[in-house]
Amino acid sequence: MPYQMWINGQYTSGSSGNVIEVRNPATEEIIDTAPAADAADVDLAVSAAQAAFPAWKKLPAGQKAELLHEIASKLTERTGEFARLLTLEGGKPLVENRDEMGWSAACFHYYAEIGRNSRGRVIPSIEETQLALVLKEPYGVVAAIVPWNYPILLMAWKVAPALAAGNTVVLKPSEMTPLSTLLFAELFAHLPPGVVNIVSGYGRDCGEPLVLDPRVRVIAFTGSLATGQRIAQLVALQMKKLHLELGGKDAFIVAEDADLDVAVPGVAWAALLNTGQVCTSTERVYIHESLAPKFIERITDFAKNLHLGPGIEPDTDMGPMIGEQYRVKIETQVEAAKAKGAKVLTGGRRPPQLERGYFYEPTVMTNVDHSMTIMNEETFGPAIPIMTYHTFDEAIALVNDSRTIANTAWEPTSIRTIHSRRNASSRKSRPERSGSTTH
Ligand code: NAD
Repeated sequence: MPYQMWINGQYTSGSSGNVIEVRNPATEEIIDTAPAADAADVDLAVSAAQAAFPAWKKLPAGQKAELLHEIASKLTERTGEFARLLTLEGGKPLVENRDEMGWSAACFHYYAEIGRNSRGRVIPSIEETQLALVLKEPYGVVAAIVPWNYPILLMAWKVAPALAAGNTVVLKPSEMTPLSTLLFAELFAHLPPGVVNIVSGYGRDCGEPLVLDPRVRVIAFTGSLATGQRIAQLVALQMKKLHLELGGKDAFIVAEDADLDVAVPGVAWAALLNTGQVCTSTERVYIHESLAPKFIERITDFAKNLHLGPGIEPDTDMGPMIGEQYRVKIETQVEAAKAKGAKVLTGGRRPPQLERGYFYEPTVMTNVDHSMTIMNEETFGPAIPIMTYHTFDEAIALVNDSRTIANTAWEPTSIRTIHSRRNASSRKSRPERSGSTTH
């Protein structure tokens, strides 16, 4: 059966009949198609979610919890199938997608119990005739808009809490990776019709009608800063509850007393996991000057020894980037940095042995500074640009000298440091993976 959308407990190809061609980023071949939803499909999905809301809201918490646990159990049973499909459409190595399925199942289990155990409060009253209660009420229809880098996990982080709290959902996956989310309809099939609806489509044709629909009370969005800004502007007058998780330029400080056996794989995987396409990816590194020569030599060797290939192959350490426009972005940043004097120690090119697929070699760079886009704009690719520092205060100042889109917005950055601390994670016969939580 072709991949279809899921609206009001029914599969549908959508009103326009238009489709999205979904490509395998490791081969550039079309894997399959997904419906390209338009405003009419979104309208049906929101209507279904709104109609399902009153009964779902009233369903006892214990019953909601059992239904959410069932989603998690079904996902656990089908981990291999979902991980494989996600690797085909998203490019991540199979081992990383198996992890993603485990975390997603855990998320549904977690919110099942949070929902079951949620409680309000009684507040001491001022008058003896008063009873003051805090009651937690669901909002209604929640729009969940998800990017392509962790399609199932980021979906779970939005859908599970929304359902546990008694809301109903219209879910929109990224047009780059819609297939695994459309398959997920099978795991929602035991829910009452309309409680979860899935519309696949492009941002303008499907995402915008969804965020603008006045019946949608909450928007839970993860994606780029530019799209977050656009959505915030679109719904400003409607005063909707808006939850935005956007991009950034996360920094990693390697302190003077760091153990390089921990710091080298820790920084490398923090920067290269999912080919650097993680919103918490390390995007710039500050190393104490006393450790710099050894650290730079070792992390360059580490990056050189990673095996690039399709994520579906078991010996692959790093897969392709998701698409050509993302590869061009890192290439442009690397070339611009080189033109300003940056030195590429390894990488900085498409791997010559892989003719097809959106591959880019893990790239270690020095002689970089904050005037370069590779140090001040999100790269979202496999780059490790390294600067040295003299004092820790100087390192903190460098980390805080950060903006993601020049002069239009500021993003908080997360700071990670490595001191002498062992990390037990290991992968036999391959460069050790460690040190990163993901989304
Ligand atoms: P994106 O903003 O291009 O797309 C994200 C989603 O928004 C997709 O489903 C897309 O179709 C939809 N969309 C696009 N335009 C829209 C519009 N005008 N109205 C409504 N919906 C619209 O982002 P992406 O390229 O898919 O993801 C990569 C970005 O996501 C990176 O910047 C990364 O840092 C960020 N990200 C952030 C987090 C986090 O938790 N902070 C997690 C993962 C990814």
